[in-house]
Amino acid sequence: MSYVEEKNKVEKSFLYLVATPIGNLSDITERAMKVLSEVDFVAAEDTRNSGLLLSRLGIKKPMVSYHDHNRAERGPEIIERLKSGESCALISDAGMPAISDPGEDLVALCAKEGVGVSIIPGACAAVSALALSGLSTRRFAFEGFLPPSGKERKKRLTDIAKEERTLIIYEAPHRLKKTLAEFSEYFGGDRRISLCRELTKLNEEVLRMTVSSACAYYEITEPRGEYVLVIEGVPEATEEDVAVDIAARAEALMAE
Ligand code: SAM
Repeated sequence: MSYVEEKNKVEKSFLYLVATPIGNLSDITERAMKVLSEVDFVAAEDTRNSGLLLSRLGIKKPMVSYHDHNRAERGPEIIERLKSGESCALISDAGMPAISDPGEDLVALCAKEGVGVSIIPGACAAVSALALSGLSTRRFAFEGFLPPSGKERKKRLTDIAKEERTLIIYEAPHRLKKTLAEFSEYFGGDRRISLCRELTKLNEEVLRMTVSSACAYYEITEPRGEYVLVIEGVPEATEEDVAVDIAARAEALMAE
């Protein structure tokens, strides 16, 4: 018991990665509330959004912004404050900071500079969708957002088309139809997919279908809200498949 109490104490010179709800305010944890109330300042991706969240939780805290476009300068400033004895909570717009969110660099900087980092776990869109998908959860690969376009996107799609593990991909609604068409091209229409939408919100929905059915469905339905796409991996080759493959290759050589 005393261990638990000690672990919940907010320490000086520590960065706390605090997970926040991905849509349902009730998913905030008791520990997240405690840490957010007790740290010296909060670093947030969007101070306006996070200010709203804090005010709904009844917490008032000095905030600094930490996002994609200012992280190079803001990171070292936060490290200096941490080194001088302040404690900081890092939150993102929603979910787990540092997962397809700014924060990864700040944690790396803390590791490099010998500054302590601790985690206040909670909602994460990727893991929530995987658990709901109905697909294999034993081995999975998190791809975050695919590169938006060009050669990089094609290469990523070609690479992941061969992946045996279940794939988890974040996608915005306005790009969904194009992405599904590409899945059909690169993965084939028969691949199973779970489209996890608006998780924990009023319109939470999980559609489990094949890629070609998903393409057809979104021809007549406008994609809305936030999506996580969970796609089954390529079935692992069995010993029997390998044997058949060797036999076929041997036969081809003989024919030559
Ligand atoms: N760091 C967050 C996490 O891992 O939970 C994810 C942040 S990322 C910038 C935002 C993406 O997460 C969205 O575009 C969407 O793909 C996914 N996402 C976030 N909240 C969601 C929700 N309630 N339902 C479905 N997907 C969600």
